[in-house]
Amino acid sequence: MSAITLEGVEKWFGEAQVIKGIDLEVEPGEFVVFVGPSGCGKSTLLRMIGGLEEISRGRLLIDGRDATAEPPSKRGLTMVFQSYALYPHMTVAENMGFSLKTAGAPRDEIGRKVAAAAEVLKLEPLLERQPKDLSGGQRQRVAIGRSIVRDPTAFLFDEPLSNLDAALRVEMRYEIAKLHQRLQKAMIYVTHDQVEAMTLADRIVVLDAGRIAQVGTPRELYERPADRFVAQFIGSPK
Ligand code: ADP
Ligand code: MG
Repeated sequence: MSAITLEGVEKWFGEAQVIKGIDLEVEPGEFVVFVGPSGCGKSTLLRMIGGLEEISRGRLLIDGRDATAEPPSKRGLTMVFQSYALYPHMTVAENMGFSLKTAGAPRDEIGRKVAAAAEVLKLEPLLERQPKDLSGGQRQRVAIGRSIVRDPTAFLFDEPLSNLDAALRVEMRYEIAKLHQRLQKAMIYVTHDQVEAMTLADRIVVLDAGRIAQVGTPRELYERPADRFVAQFIGSPK
């Protein structure tokens, strides 16, 4: 069974249709990257999967159940954004455990899950620090740590690295690849950066004005782009 299935998904903002009928299946453990130019609908599509935007038409299935109208908190997904708003008055450990605490999880369970996530992300030495005493990359790791503790079905990333400088972006890209290897969870990752797409993806979905221009492995897209638009985007010679 697919982790996430989109069936004829459309999005209208008033009269404007920005997502024009998307069919897609994301398998458990698969790393899928959405690429495409600014304004093509990447964030809107991701936000519909996460439940931050309503789906105007079509269906969303998560682990096989119809989640089209489910509230975000019930979907078992987690979103990581570029602006990682941490709670400034809480420590790293408290930030990471906060969603479990509000869900009523017992203290020892929170402690265990935070410790496990901190180990994966190498945050153990930083658990008692406050966000103001962290670097950009460390803050982004804490933001990812907050998602891991909830053991989601899938991770949704919307350009999580675009606020970081080039060197840190390379480092975090590697961290995310390792995280995926380790957790083996479905991940949907939005970027406009071809290098990120080519290095992270099992499959790339190229979006063009609300439609899928092509879906394939990085290699398929590079070697056999469906058209000039895809070729330009992927940087292949067509
Ligand atoms: P991307 O993430 O690929 O840059 P978006 O999904 O943010 O693109 O936007 C897709 C289109 O939908 C754009 O034309 C954008 O202006 C429009 N759009 C996004 N959010 C809204 C909104 N809340 N109301 C109206 N139009 C929107
Ligand atoms: Mg966007």
